[in-house]
Amino acid sequence: MPDAAPTLLWFRRDLRLADNPALTEAIRRGRPVVAVYILDDEDAGEWASGGASRWWLHQSLTRLEAALRQRGGRLVLRRGAAAEALDRLVVETGADAVYWNRRYEPWATARDQAIKATLTLRGIEVRSFNASLLREPWEIASKAGGPYRVFTPFWKALRAMGDPGDLLAAPARIAAPEIAPVSDNLDSWAMTPTKPDWAFGLRAAWEAGEDAALQRLEAFLDGAASEYANRRNFPGTNGTSRLSPHLHFGEIGPRQIWHAASFHHNEAATDQFLAEIAWREFSHHLLFHFPNLPTEPLRSEFTEFQWADDPEALAVWRNGMTGYPIVDAGMRELWATGWMHNRVRMIVASFLVKDLLLPWQLGARWFWDTLVDADLANNSASWQWVAGCGADAAPFFRVFNPTLQGTKFDPQGTYVRRWVPELSRLPDSLIHAPSDARLVDLGDAGVRLGHDYPLPVVDHRAARDRALAAFRELRAA
Ligand code: FAD
Repeated sequence: MPDAAPTLLWFRRDLRLADNPALTEAIRRGRPVVAVYILDDEDAGEWASGGASRWWLHQSLTRLEAALRQRGGRLVLRRGAAAEALDRLVVETGADAVYWNRRYEPWATARDQAIKATLTLRGIEVRSFNASLLREPWEIASKAGGPYRVFTPFWKALRAMGDPGDLLAAPARIAAPEIAPVSDNLDSWAMTPTKPDWAFGLRAAWEAGEDAALQRLEAFLDGAASEYANRRNFPGTNGTSRLSPHLHFGEIGPRQIWHAASFHHNEAATDQFLAEIAWREFSHHLLFHFPNLPTEPLRSEFTEFQWADDPEALAVWRNGMTGYPIVDAGMRELWATGWMHNRVRMIVASFLVKDLLLPWQLGARWFWDTLVDADLANNSASWQWVAGCGADAAPFFRVFNPTLQGTKFDPQGTYVRRWVPELSRLPDSLIHAPSDARLVDLGDAGVRLGHDYPLPVVDHRAARDRALAAFRELRAA
């Protein structure tokens, strides 16, 4: 067997050993397995991983390599165009089969099809599998036979398909060829941020890898899950699973989550949580069927929307210095930890698009670089949803009031106090509206507006009127 032509197993967004169909099938094939990860920035082009994702990827690959080694395997690292990297590996190892789990970004699906065609022509067996979704985007179709554009019937259809299938166990042993192909050194990929405080914040907030993902799921199901429906909107509590980066990198798969959630609790407790997993499925469904989702509004009339051109306002938003505490807290949480609570993502996104009238694509770009869970499907679909131009979107004319959102979802100001410490001594009644506070209250709390904390970058009421006027203009046109 050591001399048999090996199987190349191409790891991508499936950085785990359990419930990994490509890995299971590669082992089942009975030949040595050469596991490879290719840093394919060239193929991804403008959607190459951003800074925070690269930090995560480095940690995740380290964990994966260790897990493979424990079982007798290796992880070969290569970089460059995937077609060429695979070509070289086929020649170097004599592999006669290449297996992988599918991805759904338009650049990846086009590339993978081309690779499959070329390798097949050369007599290499190519097989691909689903490790990232409960169902493939093409398996779910509306009654009219096309893709869904509305979430609720999509979720109903997904649910009606029932259990997504049995889980695959992690292999106990992985047979590697006697001589492993040369591998890049992970450090040479320079994926750790050069700003030392950034890397420090990410490290303090997260532990990457399959083991950490499974532990997080278990801790969530044993704890916050039972109150998820009530607490998931309150950023000052630990009310959500924080599984998003693990899911994005495939350190855990949605089938594992589905099974664990279905068996762990009664249905009422996990129903809302599974609905969020279904939003992830819906976003991938949209990206697959509408490949321009990351750049073009799904509602084409929004192409003509008159956005503002205001780099200074964009910088203020990015830096968490808008003068609206809940917005600034969110943007600072994002910078410090690579993650932001979902409710606050909606608030900061609405603020960018409606209060600052800046194009959603600029916000999505910043998220792309700073989120550890930056995901082309979820990020694009969510930004379009907030901007009102997406499938099943919140209507544009529904404009979040950031002060009211703050008082409603962070009533004691726990979240704002954590991320905007210069306001921490303000009483609960003023924490979300420092610009409404009397000088004496500000003085008592040690805040000089415009000095310690900025004055509001825009007046929300005036900004709302401006946004609605722009929207009316669009409708009239
Ligand atoms: P939980 O509440 O525990 O949910 C469990 C899982 O369901 C999440 O891990 C995630 O995979 C999925 N999920 C939850 N909400 C959504 C949603 N609205 N859309 C799609 N999937 C969802 N999520 C990303 O994974 N990557 C992104 O780049 C991303 N960008 C976003 C941008 C904006 C403007 C907004 C409003 C939302 C974005 N989301 C994104 C969705 C959501 O905010 C995060 O998935 C969620 O906050 C992750 O935290 P959690 O794991 O604790 O979620």
